[in-house]
Amino acid sequence: ARKFILVQHFKGLPKKEDVKIVEEELPPLKTGEFLAEAVYLSVDPYMRAYEPRFQIGSSIIGGQVAKILESKNPEFPVGAYIFGSYGWRTHTVGPIEGDEGMPRQYRLPDFAGHPYSLALGVLGMPGNTAYFGFLDLCKPKEGETVVVSGAAGAVGSIVGQIAKIKKCKVIGIAGSDEKGKWLTDELGFDHFINYKTSNVAQKLKEAAPNGIDCYFDNVGGEISSNVIHQMNKYGRISVCGAIASYNDDYLHLPKATIIQTALVFKELRMEGFLVTRWMNRWMDGINQNLQWIKEGKLKYRETVTEGFENMLNALVDILQGGNTGKAIVKV
Ligand code: NDP
Repeated sequence: ARKFILVQHFKGLPKKEDVKIVEEELPPLKTGEFLAEAVYLSVDPYMRAYEPRFQIGSSIIGGQVAKILESKNPEFPVGAYIFGSYGWRTHTVGPIEGDEGMPRQYRLPDFAGHPYSLALGVLGMPGNTAYFGFLDLCKPKEGETVVVSGAAGAVGSIVGQIAKIKKCKVIGIAGSDEKGKWLTDELGFDHFINYKTSNVAQKLKEAAPNGIDCYFDNVGGEISSNVIHQMNKYGRISVCGAIASYNDDYLHLPKATIIQTALVFKELRMEGFLVTRWMNRWMDGINQNLQWIKEGKLKYRETVTEGFENMLNALVDILQGGNTGKAIVKV
């Protein structure tokens, strides 16, 4: 097997010297075990956000879609496809014990002809993040105005479409006009704001003259302060992530921005979450998103990087907005 390990802590954007690939000899299979080979690997913002907590020399965490090559376990027969939380590695002897949170592996259900790579995106963790994190926390009602930041990414693009399914008015914020065109022309978003080239506060006033009821926050920072100050009374904010600060030394940044006045006077509800909260309903989210895909109500896009050795490039790419939809690596 080949796997990536951490050589030195990331400073700012990760660099190629920060990680290296090492070879590892795998033991022969015992009864109950299987050998899985990675087919698609995921790169996600949390890999950057969690990195400061990892020790030098440790493996890089992450999910993958793998195919069973050999098996002494009838639940995981040769040829089956699985999701495995195995990290950045090409081959794994499983099953690996689960821990708190994500299951370490599960067999993928039939995706009705859609590629198994979707188990890393709309039919996996990001899709469930959108489904549960938006519906359970924002509790959108028909006719309400919803703003999504990081709108053209894996999670944001699904949140916006679910908001349309719930008959809301949807405003997406992202970093390029090309992404905006995809959101409005193909995914049915009502408005798009390019946070790199326009005044977000001003554009929000134009797109949501009656204020904002729900905000799904993927990015944090200034974009979010602007949104929160234009929310309506009893508005709901689902705090999913803060990618705008992951490349900064965010554990040591000043923590407060002045959103408290809006929270108080508008009596807003703001709640953070980890998607693992809904572990016991995991397959419900996947089945509902698959159903919406089959009905043509939910569309997806993937940005694919070829080659296991390019994992780090693919991670750096998402931190710079290079992806539209879900970023994956094909081995
Ligand atoms: P994306 O596919 O959205 O990729 C990241 C995107 O973030 C980029 O494409 C880029 O798009 C945008 N971005 C990068 N830097 C900045 C910046 N400085 N300001 C604003 N936008 C920026 O990733 P995911 O959909 O996988 O994740 C989205 C968010 O959700 C992340 O914050 C992630 O940590 C969080 N998350 C949280 C989970 C939870 O359980 N709470 C689970 C999964 C994800 P652009 O061109 O628009 O800049």
